[in-house]
Amino acid sequence: MSYDAAARRDTPLAKKLIAQIRARGPLVLKDYMTACLQDPEHGYYRTREAIGGAGDFVTAPEISQIFGELIGLWSAIAWQQIGSPHRVNLIELGPGRGTLMQDALRAARLVPAFAAALEVHLVESSETLRAIQARTLADAGKRPEWHAALSNVPSGPAIILVNEFLDALAVDQLVRGPNGWRLRAVTVDAQGHLQFDDDTLPASEVPAYAAAAAPGTVVTLPDYAELAAALGCLGRDHPLAALFIDYGHAASAAGDTLQAVRAHYYEHPLTSPGEADLTAHVDFEDFRTRVLAQQGLAADGPKTQGEFLGALGIVERGSRLMALNPAKAGEIEAGVARLLSPQGMGTRFKVLGVRGAGQPPLPGLEQR
Ligand code: SAH
Repeated sequence: MSYDAAARRDTPLAKKLIAQIRARGPLVLKDYMTACLQDPEHGYYRTREAIGGAGDFVTAPEISQIFGELIGLWSAIAWQQIGSPHRVNLIELGPGRGTLMQDALRAARLVPAFAAALEVHLVESSETLRAIQARTLADAGKRPEWHAALSNVPSGPAIILVNEFLDALAVDQLVRGPNGWRLRAVTVDAQGHLQFDDDTLPASEVPAYAAAAAPGTVVTLPDYAELAAALGCLGRDHPLAALFIDYGHAASAAGDTLQAVRAHYYEHPLTSPGEADLTAHVDFEDFRTRVLAQQGLAADGPKTQGEFLGALGIVERGSRLMALNPAKAGEIEAGVARLLSPQGMGTRFKVLGVRGAGQPPLPGLEQR
């Protein structure tokens, strides 16, 4: 998306970052993105209710309750696969409004021994969203414990649910310009506005898949190292079953996938710092490789969301729910169709399972 100077908004965070760059020099893109999402005063997730019809984007659990319910049943099967431990941590990373966990816990009651064994841990950086999650889960029968990072969750058998979290992790970008590869930076132009500077900072290592790319190529580099290490730690002494669902590509490829969305519309990532959601496509190949580099971990998939939800029986569950609620049948059917859409979420979203290497493949992600 090109930078429309006329659309540029003078947000409080823009002013803060401009002053900071003037005082201390260029920001790498990762630091810009982190500030936009997490700045304690003006960060996107800190200040607004981003998710849902009135927010900036709608996620799968907000589209249909069946999404969270199937993932709750998936969790129960995963729990049985790891030997039905009498205590298990049910962990969610980036729970948003808490809808997925609410639906999952309701479905989990169908397996009473699992419902009795589970303790809920939520990894959430935003105080605003923590308060919303507490409200959503007030009647769920489990009192969640909140953490700032996965590495802070106590060890023990773990089931981890993750929807649209990896795409919110900050990325850097490399740009192949006339003078070779550079690390994209954010600087201030002669008029005092934020700009991308693709010439000043030298590039670190260029990934092999992009080495021969043409001039003008942008490479988006996510950083999953910390998360992979935390998974490795949790899986070292205890069984682990984790589900990562996100939009992105199964194989690493060059491309500028950083995007900004505000009130359901795309805009340039520099247009409204702190007031638009910034995300990047998940590079599932890179994430998988980092997971497999951890001793004792294995990965299943990625599969498309359509294949995964199909394997879990979404169509059957949708039909049953429609029969029980004839007045809502149209809405239920539309929700399921949207989650499975071959031109939309059904294929753009992928599902990767992470588990202990000695455990059987995770439900819905077995190789056929
Ligand atoms: N899973 C939810 C919300 C997705 S939005 C859903 O599907 O609706 C991303 C979520 O991740 C938000 O809750 C956001 O506050 C949280 N988040 C983003 N970056 C984070 C980080 N670095 N640490 C902890 N939580 C983070």
